[in-house]
Amino acid sequence: MRTREQATECDPHSDASAPVSNEDPIRAALASVRREIGQAAAEARRSAEAVTLVAVSKTQPVAQLEAALAAGQRIFGENRVQEAAVKWPALRARYPDVELHLIGPLQTNKVRDAVALFDVIETVDRPKLAAALAAEMAASGRRPRCYLEVNTGEEDQKAGVAPADLEALLGVCRDQHHLPITGLMAIPPQDEDPALHFALLADMARRHALPEISMGMSGDFPLAVRFGATHVRVGTAIFGARSVDEG
Ligand SMILES: *Cc1c(COP(=O)(O)O)cnc(C)c1O
Repeated sequence: MRTREQATECDPHSDASAPVSNEDPIRAALASVRREIGQAAAEARRSAEAVTLVAVSKTQPVAQLEAALAAGQRIFGENRVQEAAVKWPALRARYPDVELHLIGPLQTNKVRDAVALFDVIETVDRPKLAAALAAEMAASGRRPRCYLEVNTGEEDQKAGVAPADLEALLGVCRDQHHLPITGLMAIPPQDEDPALHFALLADMARRHALPEISMGMSGDFPLAVRFGATHVRVGTAIFGARSVDEG
């Protein structure tokens, strides 16, 4: 278990050179989350390396990000383009192997900044956004991977494409805009058992031959791993409670 845990996208060299301290709560929390991922993967007879931990650093100050980076974490999720544009460029200059995921809604007027900043855009959910992303990718030459966000609970207030419209949107993204769509993402309704939603998302990804499945948060990531998540998005279990939670 120990070797698997270390293999979960942490660089063993940076890990070894960083100071080890029991008093570093972020390092300890990261180790514990990686251990839980490893256990859930083993239970599902999956390889722990097949699961990527996306550390959700929204609202967290740079000092917290530095602690996670020092502990070997390299893949992070932010939900606001503007906030990420303030926090990340200087850190990325020091840690060029960082991979940034956009996990919050994207407005078309922020597409230029999003394409410049993010390596993965997890929240593509409508044709207009797909068109704007394609235009900006052509103009900039940058091609961040994209996931389609699926509103598996069909909640009115929530972003994401309805399951019934997924196939059509995928067609628009791939055939019309040639976007690099590599996965699906979902945020299950808060008051429902997430298992059904995880199973549904994994099934849709399989049917459309999309290799990446982003699901599971602090409260339910081991369950998501058992249902086939390739990316879990974990914030509070790593960084502690957010003072401002703008979801
Ligand atoms: C905030 C957020 C998370 C992380 O939630 P935690 O409960 O803090 O782990 C995951 N996914 C999305 C889309 C989020 O906005």
